[in-house]
Amino acid sequence: MATSLAEENYLKIIYRLSENTDQGVSTNAVAELAQTKAASVTDMLQKLAEKGWVIYQKYQGVRLTPSGQKIALSIIRKHRLWEVFLVEKLGYNWDEVHEIAEQLEHIESESLIQKLDEFLGFPDRDPHGDPIPTRDGKMADQIYQPLSEIKEKMDCVLMGVAKDAAVFLQLLTKLDLNLGAKITILEINSFDRSLQIQVNSAAPIFVSHEVAKNILVKA
Ligand SMILES: [Zn+2]
Repeated sequence: MATSLAEENYLKIIYRLSENTDQGVSTNAVAELAQTKAASVTDMLQKLAEKGWVIYQKYQGVRLTPSGQKIALSIIRKHRLWEVFLVEKLGYNWDEVHEIAEQLEHIESESLIQKLDEFLGFPDRDPHGDPIPTRDGKMADQIYQPLSEIKEKMDCVLMGVAKDAAVFLQLLTKLDLNLGAKITILEINSFDRSLQIQVNSAAPIFVSHEVAKNILVKA
């Protein structure tokens, strides 16, 4: 069954919100991410329920059915593969690709996506370190931990980000905090939990706790 662009975006939003919970997702949470009124969300959820992609009960929120989940994962797969393509083959920076991938993720041709995947050498992570679902809808867990949880004097490697807002990525680029950067934690300030770190053996810099929370690393 064909999906419209709006339907695909809703399925993606519901998928994202249900990643961290076993409960149904609330209409308000969906409305916030979709940047629309709860009333329009309710209409859309009823439509998605009729098509068999979600289960929607007024006071229990919304859940994806297996077929709804399959569609959401295929959109996420396309989005992340296009991001790899834009960064690796077209030379975009990691802060520039999300908005473009939001458009490219709706391309229908399954054979194009297969060829793209092959062309890129079957990558398993996007340029922000997020796992790319496989063709049959399997996605690896996010296995990296926030920099804010690493102890003093420890070394780690930057593997991804928990937030892919362009302003955040631009800040990281300015601080030389790119994927694969080697980070040593010199000191954690007990007052505000800001960190003094060393990136790739350069001069020490300070980052806030908020920034450290959104950087994912492998110890
Ligand atoms: Zn993205």
